Amino acid sequence: MSVNRRQFLAHTALASAALALQHGAAMADALTRPYRRIEDVWRKKWTWDRVAHGTHGTNCAGTCAFNVYIRNGVVWREEQQAEYERSGTPDVPDYGPRGCNKGLRHARYMYGKQRVLYPMKRVGKRGEGKWQRISWDQATREIAEKFIDVAVKHGPDSITLGSGTQLAVKMASYSALARFSNITGVTVPEFYSGVGDLPTGFYMTTGLTYLGDTMAAVYKSKCVLVWMANPAVTRIPDAHFFWEAKYNGTEVVTISPEFTPTAMHSSKWLNIKPGTDTALAMAMVHTIIEEKLYDAAYIREQTDLPFLVREDNGEFLRAEDLNLVDMLAVRENVFYLWDQKTRRMVQAPGTGAAEAPVGRRRRKFETIALGDIEPALEGRWTVQTRTGKVTVTTVFALLKKRAADHSPENMSAETGLNPNAMRTVAREFAKAGKQAMIYAGFSACKWLHGDILQRAMVLLCALTGATGHEGGGVQMANGPKSRGITSFAFAGVGAASRIVASTLWDYDHGKMKQLNEKIYGKKLADEFDSHYQHSLKEDWFPQYGKNGWKMGIFAGENGANWRASGNRWRTEAFEKLEMIVALVPDAGITMHHADIVLPIAHHYERADIMLQSRHPYVQVLDRAVKPLGEAVDDFEALRRVSAAISAIAREKGTAAIKDDVDGRTFRRDLKRTLELYTMDGAIKDSRDIVQFIINATPGIPKMSFAELAAKGIVRVDESRGSTVWNSDESPFHADIAESVHEKRPYETLTGRQQFYIDHEWFLKFDEALPVYHPPLKQKGYPLQMTMGHARHGIHSMWRDDSFLVSLQRGEPDIYVNPDDAAARNVRDGDLIEVFNDGGSFICMAHLSAGIMPGTLYMYHGWDPTMFRGRQNFAAVIPTAGLVKPTSVAGDYGHLGYRVLAYAPNQTYRDFTCNFKLHSRGKVTAAKVRIA
Ligand code: SF4
Repeated sequence: MSVNRRQFLAHTALASAALALQHGAAMADALTRPYRRIEDVWRKKWTWDRVAHGTHGTNCAGTCAFNVYIRNGVVWREEQQAEYERSGTPDVPDYGPRGCNKGLRHARYMYGKQRVLYPMKRVGKRGEGKWQRISWDQATREIAEKFIDVAVKHGPDSITLGSGTQLAVKMASYSALARFSNITGVTVPEFYSGVGDLPTGFYMTTGLTYLGDTMAAVYKSKCVLVWMANPAVTRIPDAHFFWEAKYNGTEVVTISPEFTPTAMHSSKWLNIKPGTDTALAMAMVHTIIEEKLYDAAYIREQTDLPFLVREDNGEFLRAEDLNLVDMLAVRENVFYLWDQKTRRMVQAPGTGAAEAPVGRRRRKFETIALGDIEPALEGRWTVQTRTGKVTVTTVFALLKKRAADHSPENMSAETGLNPNAMRTVAREFAKAGKQAMIYAGFSACKWLHGDILQRAMVLLCALTGATGHEGGGVQMANGPKSRGITSFAFAGVGAASRIVASTLWDYDHGKMKQLNEKIYGKKLADEFDSHYQHSLKEDWFPQYGKNGWKMGIFAGENGANWRASGNRWRTEAFEKLEMIVALVPDAGITMHHADIVLPIAHHYERADIMLQSRHPYVQVLDRAVKPLGEAVDDFEALRRVSAAISAIAREKGTAAIKDDVDGRTFRRDLKRTLELYTMDGAIKDSRDIVQFIINATPGIPKMSFAELAAKGIVRVDESRGSTVWNSDESPFHADIAESVHEKRPYETLTGRQQFYIDHEWFLKFDEALPVYHPPLKQKGYPLQMTMGHARHGIHSMWRDDSFLVSLQRGEPDIYVNPDDAAARNVRDGDLIEVFNDGGSFICMAHLSAGIMPGTLYMYHGWDPTMFRGRQNFAAVIPTAGLVKPTSVAGDYGHLGYRVLAYAPNQTYRDFTCNFKLHSRGKVTAAKVRIA
């Protein structure tokens, strides 16, 4: 379509008028005044008043440096800040410039009609969309009234402050939220396990959550398995490292049921059936052991594979088994090896610390170095215990037996893979040795037994001796040391916060046991529930909000979009709240159902910093422009709420609340909320928090916020000369490197990479060693549905951007294999209803031969408001009540609730469904307005 000059000016005038309606006359004036003629658009296009540095503070993990161009107080455009220095590591490609389609669209999106500009109060029914604009004063007073009422009557833990990924990755914003929750005692259902991203299997094995180096480490690998990940779509600024590595001789193998854009560019693609990945991992373990391709020296020292296990009860041989003194002293953390040299049983070095190794403190002054000991990997021996003679063997011997059950031939039907293909990849991986890498996506966490897959992944990297070496090991994500954030949250008041896994919170407050009964039957529902109740009774896991969930404050998250079993969660938990408050920059389903909405600043309208381990830079968000309308940043929003709470508590003379948190009693004097939140007025805005974090976080060069803002990006300490995080001085976790190179014990019960867990629940469910459990299937529903992060959005952000939507199908679509479609009389572009016993939703069928028959694939994040009946994919995810027993175990060294480390993940992948034709599609091309 051609557009003449007159039409162009008419369109420009219309667009400006629309902006004026949305954001007020001042902004429209700024946009229209310089453009009297079409030529002016081009003449002025490359002029600006000012350039600020920024990025997009969402959880894309890109943290790309951008220049933000401002004219007349409006962000006109953005551009990549191509000023990254050379990587600093010989022969490794550089980290920058960085960017993606979403980031380059943000200057338009932030002025889109989805923006929330003013505090609003619901005047119609929830979700009806009838609002009244109110003042900040009225909004915060109404919130504070309810807050005080609930806190006094039911306890502050009956109020939740939900922190989403939009907020949590911005360090100052998250610190503000953490301080507010710590002061007030509200419960924070954490999103890490809530969205099914918590790598519990890695934690069970290594005592660490954060396994990951920079993306440049990929270039150093010799064989990288891209497993349950799709970096060509989800890591756009970094995907080049995979393709450059190929030119460096690296074998890039993608393991995925779908022919993804990543699979397309890989050296090999294993098109595995969904949910059978552990079968493949164990088949590879079998091949490596059977063909003796493992690194014996590494596994003898770094793992529990040579530890002795009693054959009579399947438990480790411990000191307390051997004599009464050790039993009375509860020496349950002393373990044994069989020394081949002396032919004697010896204590494993680094076990039996004076303090119980509960994972809370690294055993800095011990070593796992073997010295003269040469532990046997296989054998059977008889040892004298205090109750008689017992036969013992090694974990390795048990593993060998377990792996034999998972031979490639045995696992071929399960995985749909040819045994030779599995063996070939296993050999290539083993041949890569210390440079064997698994680039693991977060999807593994979203399967019920994803923890076992992760244990198997670490096992593969241990067998090749790769973990802890540059270019090797499991790469998922490292995280910044939280010292700055926790110091800020607790300064002057101590730690008094409540953080709970969202999965457990939802189970308690969403009647999820009933859901389990409906979907999986009473037997499973009772079994899962009894273990969870046992865990609570033993105090292995905390339970907050026993008086009910009364008030929900949702900050930086769109919970009603993504919660599993979404419709049930909304009706059973969310809608029953007495007050819902949403702090959001953009409209979405959570905001639509809120009672009070507070407008929040967008990425270019706030001051903050971000640290993401994929590259070695700290990145600033310098406030480029004032927030639109009456929006403020998260710190300021909570400051205004704090001020209102203090004022009303004083007016009412509210007495301090006696509050018991995990056995400790605190006095919550709500009258002091503001003074505590702002540290007696010392913290005036987000820049002050950023400065606090810079000063308190190791590895961030010490400078002022202004200096950082002037540069945009600053290289972090200890990041030159290596692509891995291997220094205690860096801002990221380097514990793995310490254990591998300095021989410090791991933070596990055994002080090793621990592949054998002899907790009674793990033994009961046959999970003491990694084992393959088939994916869950609902009877009568033949299609396994999976999802993945999208190219054109990050979670729900940008999913509704008109231009980005126009690059897709114009509305939510789901990928369907043509044979499955034909069997249901469905054609490309038709609307289909996807359904199971959990619920249903309607979307467009997108036929693709890249999708395996018997499966459905959907890029996630679409908001329910974009679907008919406001039901999105979450409606058919029936898994919200699946609290896996082995994820709530405790009283076992490092196992027991640990925030952001060990907790049940929400399960999002493990289900089946079906679909049928809803209606014939009228068009198959995009049918949206292009902004
Ligand atoms: S959205 Fe994320 S990946 Fe894209 S440009 Fe912005 S920071 Fe980079």
